Amino acid sequence: MERPAVGDGRPLPLGLLRLVGHRPAEKDRVESLGRPKGRAMPTGWIFDIQRFSIHDGPGIRTTVFFKGCPLRCLWCGNPESIRPRPQLSYLREKCLGCGDCAGACPRTAIALGADHKASLDWSRCDHCGRCAVVCDAKALEMVGRNVGVAEVLAVVLRDRDYYAASGGGMTLSGGEPLAQPDFAEALLHAAKAESLHCCVETSGMAEWSVLKRLLGAVDLWLYDYKETDPHLHAKFTGFGNAPILANLHALHRADAKIVLRCPMIPEHNARQQHLDGIAALARQLPKLEGVELLPYYDLWRAKLTRFGLTSPLPESVKPPDRATVQSWHDYLRQRGVRLVASS
Ligand code: SF4
Ligand code: SF4
Repeated sequence: MERPAVGDGRPLPLGLLRLVGHRPAEKDRVESLGRPKGRAMPTGWIFDIQRFSIHDGPGIRTTVFFKGCPLRCLWCGNPESIRPRPQLSYLREKCLGCGDCAGACPRTAIALGADHKASLDWSRCDHCGRCAVVCDAKALEMVGRNVGVAEVLAVVLRDRDYYAASGGGMTLSGGEPLAQPDFAEALLHAAKAESLHCCVETSGMAEWSVLKRLLGAVDLWLYDYKETDPHLHAKFTGFGNAPILANLHALHRADAKIVLRCPMIPEHNARQQHLDGIAALARQLPKLEGVELLPYYDLWRAKLTRFGLTSPLPESVKPPDRATVQSWHDYLRQRGVRLVASS
């Protein structure tokens, strides 16, 4: 059977065939996704697609960053991921001082300053995006867009030769991919139809039914474990860790491949009690692929101004030095923990 072609005459890849309504594949798609015939393919909100990623699972990967997250981690490295819908970004250095944005804003959130740069009152902004439309300099832009599975998969498939050579594939990250389960499921199944290796990077903060739905389409779970003490977990992220741990144990019972990823934040969870908690958890999960420590970095702070955000994490929190990170690794190794780098 000959496949329909894209514009340049090449046959469409199988995963895309299933998304453009080619009949036999459409039937397969409906069956493989387990959704009622006639129901529209879901779309999702993302804020980035990063090709040639080497830190989000094995090999060379394309990482799809979902928008929206139920947690509020003090150290969130992607603060633009938290809001579930598009949000305004302002890069002051790109502003040409034309003033068009001020005229376009229905909420009088923008004024032209004495320095001939746009000045934003973020408290008035509702992220409607009208100013970004008129900003030819691209100083104002909206971050986050609604995309279809076919659109994302077309980007992901560009690098399939690299995936094949390196053992890579596609990773869903965020934000929290599990917060958009229909879109995540459809995208994963489309990628699996192309025989891609699929990772999901998650906080685990979701209903178990969501993780269960995705089980068959995920080759490796990159599962965050942020804090052992439930009260501190709530203080650091906004929620206790009970549902996250319950989902982790359920995944393990289901024989899912899991790497436990542990962000280590000085003055917060980077302390002996939490390292002991990680070691104890690893002992309870003997099929775990391993534990990966993610030492704190602070480059994300530069993004805050761009999005009109502030962070509750004190400026005194600095990235750990190499010797400190080594001491964490040594401590866990001495307690029998298998350490891995998921990249
Ligand atoms: S429209 Fe863009 S370039 Fe013009 S003042 Fe506003 S931010 Fe600056
Ligand atoms: S996105 Fe914000 S600043 Fe821009 S026009 Fe809308 S309300 Fe005004």
